[in-house]
Amino acid sequence: MATDSNQFQKIISHCKEYGFIFPGSEIYDGQQAVYDYGQWGSELKKNIKDYWWDSMTRMHENIVGIDAAIFMHPTTWKASGHIDNFNDPMIDNKDSKKRYRVDHLIETFAEELTSSGNEILANEILSSMESLLAKDDFLGLKKLIEDKKIKCNISGTCNWTDVRQFNLMFSTEFGSTASENGEDNIVYLRPETAQGIFVNFLNVQKTGRMKIPFGIAQIGKAFRNEIVARQFIFRMREFEQMEMQFFIRPGTQKQWYEFWKAERLKWHLSLGTSTDNYRFHDHIKLAHYADAACDIEYNFPIGFKEVEGIHSRTDFDLKQHQEFSKKKMQYFDNDIDEATGKPFGNYIPYVIETSIGLDRMFLLVMSQAYTEEDLSTAEKQDSRVVLKFPAKLAPLKLAVLPLVKKDGLPEIARKIMDDCKSSFRCFYEEKDTIGKRYRRMDAIGTPFCVTVDYQTKEDNTVTIRYRDSMKQERISIESLKDIVLLAIR
Ligand code: ATP
Repeated sequence: MATDSNQFQKIISHCKEYGFIFPGSEIYDGQQAVYDYGQWGSELKKNIKDYWWDSMTRMHENIVGIDAAIFMHPTTWKASGHIDNFNDPMIDNKDSKKRYRVDHLIETFAEELTSSGNEILANEILSSMESLLAKDDFLGLKKLIEDKKIKCNISGTCNWTDVRQFNLMFSTEFGSTASENGEDNIVYLRPETAQGIFVNFLNVQKTGRMKIPFGIAQIGKAFRNEIVARQFIFRMREFEQMEMQFFIRPGTQKQWYEFWKAERLKWHLSLGTSTDNYRFHDHIKLAHYADAACDIEYNFPIGFKEVEGIHSRTDFDLKQHQEFSKKKMQYFDNDIDEATGKPFGNYIPYVIETSIGLDRMFLLVMSQAYTEEDLSTAEKQDSRVVLKFPAKLAPLKLAVLPLVKKDGLPEIARKIMDDCKSSFRCFYEEKDTIGKRYRRMDAIGTPFCVTVDYQTKEDNTVTIRYRDSMKQERISIESLKDIVLLAIR
């Protein structure tokens, strides 16, 4: 597992310096594990969202989207199992009082072993951890930590408490007056967007006249009180998910699980990443609702890590909501079952879920795009940082740059802006030399720059400069819009 923390730090600094991501509430010294997306970050995030949304809904006729509320009836979380089961095993170091997620503590130790050339031992430890986690064997986990002499990185000691479970849901109170029974007022900030889809399953199915198999997609905020939130936007307490629940006939889950694994990987690869940077990781310890699950992992500068989960959730959630709400969650399937010659009839559908973290996808796109290039020649030293985003995701598509601030050039540039800005995001800039302006656009990943110069006044042509190759060519103003539109399709 090759990691490059230096590269990771550079990406974090770049995100801040160029208006992609700022630490949350920075003027108050920040709020741990909370981040704000800046002017270019919010554009990039929106473009990732749109790309996911369009490929899920527009490109699949049998998938529709919803936008459910963050606050849900508290019984939702009893039914889904989150109140009882949404826990992570934690351990505290008695000397530093620092709390660790057990899997993170062991994984970090294994990563250190790997980087010091001890990969075989690291893999042994990881596989022992997985099988102990799968059995909820907390004594075994503590023993593993002690036997391997895993130390707290603050106190440097192995003085550990027992392993305990902590619930990851945030709670708050609803309404202005506390009821006699305070419990009645407690609501949770949703830890996943999926439940908003499950409780609306029949609303959508009936009003949309959806026939199984069909899917419901949603993008929205989720909240988890991660004890150890770390690694920039990779693990936050407030984050965004892009989830799709695909409702299917019971017994067909294996086939649809494989279908969605392939489909989702295809989506990732459509953004130009090489297959070597992706891998599937099958879960041994399954969540309480799943009969199969895997992660799509990406080779981040911090190593291969989960970016998306594909879960075969069985009929667990709909069945639980039926039981807790006392409302039927059944679907009537009037297709003919060849085995019996009769309609399939009433059943509670099974579900395949695809769940991707928008912020992790952002980090993936950023990690993939961030490039340092040495442009030195015999005469002078030179370099640039360029974000090689796929054009359709780039925050800005076109920069329009008059060579000088006079002689009618800004007016022509403004006219180009007016012609293009309703079709895609453009940026106008007249300050500094053209070279400096190009570099600033490289640093935020703008795929095209056009320069308006004196020749433009004579023949209506501009110089277009391509971000990745830095090649420049003369084109007519008329053809400009189509060139950009073709690239961002
Ligand atoms: P992890 O094992 O990393 O905690 P998970 O398996 O709990 O993740 P899921 O419940 O499958 O995650 O959530 C689906 C997706 O939501 C994940 O693949 C990830 O991209 C994203 N996600 C989950 N937790 C966080 C978080 N704390 N911060 C940012 N994204 C997250």
